Amino acid sequence: MKVGFYGHVRQYENIKSEIDANINEVLLSGSYVQGPMLKAFEAQAAEYFGTTYAIGVGNGTDALWLSLMALGIGAGDEVITNVNTFFATAEAIWIAGAKAVLVDCEPKSKCIDPEKIEAAITDKTKAIMPVHLYGQCADMPAIWEIAEKHGLKVIEDNAQAIDGAGDTFKQGDRSATVTTSFIIQKNLGCFGDGGMVFTNDAAVDETIRKLRNHGSNARNVHSPGFNSRLDDLQAGVLSVKMKHITKLTDQRIAWARVYDEELKDCTSITLPYNVPGYRHVYHLYAIEVKDPAKRDALVQFLQDNDIDAKTHYSIAIHQQHGFPWGKPVEIAGSLENAEANAATCVSLPMFPELTQEEIDYVIAKVREWDQANA
Ligand SMILES: *Cc1c(COP(=O)(O)O)cnc(C)c1O
Repeated sequence: MKVGFYGHVRQYENIKSEIDANINEVLLSGSYVQGPMLKAFEAQAAEYFGTTYAIGVGNGTDALWLSLMALGIGAGDEVITNVNTFFATAEAIWIAGAKAVLVDCEPKSKCIDPEKIEAAITDKTKAIMPVHLYGQCADMPAIWEIAEKHGLKVIEDNAQAIDGAGDTFKQGDRSATVTTSFIIQKNLGCFGDGGMVFTNDAAVDETIRKLRNHGSNARNVHSPGFNSRLDDLQAGVLSVKMKHITKLTDQRIAWARVYDEELKDCTSITLPYNVPGYRHVYHLYAIEVKDPAKRDALVQFLQDNDIDAKTHYSIAIHQQHGFPWGKPVEIAGSLENAEANAATCVSLPMFPELTQEEIDYVIAKVREWDQANA
């Protein structure tokens, strides 16, 4: 049996008539950029997310650096973020002209460790950018407390955690912005690239709306800006998928509970940790192989059995060599937890449209490997 890593086509087939109707509506409207479908989707998204404003942008990376720019953060400033995240989080800080200060994660949740944030704060620090990694929210109450004590802005990178929440808080409660990505492989994905900024701040909303559109909010009136818009076709697709997101997330969580139950007695691996009370939305189901020397062997074994397993992220940002422009990142203290995770992580197939047969097959193969390697 072949088990893929994503269910894009299955998802489209399940809601094809609704999506096709919206695509047709946009095509026949003749209005494809900043048209009525984008406007309607932005209103729907703001209501869904519980913020006053939602601004569609070109992708999740732009949503991050546009947030920084709108908050006046750039050259000479430092922004504290996770060392273990998708590269784009640190990249966005570099694009804005600031320096990314990389902080270690908690050993269990893999989210940024609030206890290590305070030690990384300098007189140049302007913001904290926590990532809700793999679909689990960071410890936001602790992060907001530190930010408020030091007068810092908070930008939440929610690219992996749409529909996620904490136990006593929701995303964005006390943050300047929350950003997301709608690239197809994310939990709420369009048919290409897209992103969004959520905020309650009217000035940030106005600034990002101008920045995304050549610095313009009135015909022929410009200030320097960019071109980073979410087009109406993608907005039409996302509008349909957003109506289904709770159900889709619930199905991810149900599959995670099946993995949890059926793999819990495997002694060679550690299963993902769900902070009690948090709604972990399982963008990824990321296990760890206890013996780092055997990690690549597990990935290879699964691949050899037609199971598409991956690693997220086996090279942490400070271990990357892709910085030809110099060293735009600063390392704050020991990164031992993130380094251990980079050496041991394996992501199993996780998407709502998995079938029971497929998940049973993945479980059987992981158990078989575990027994041979216990
Ligand atoms: C996907 C992702 C991004 C970037 O999103 P794009 O839409 O690809 O630009 C940023 N941060 C995290 C944590 C991501 O997973």
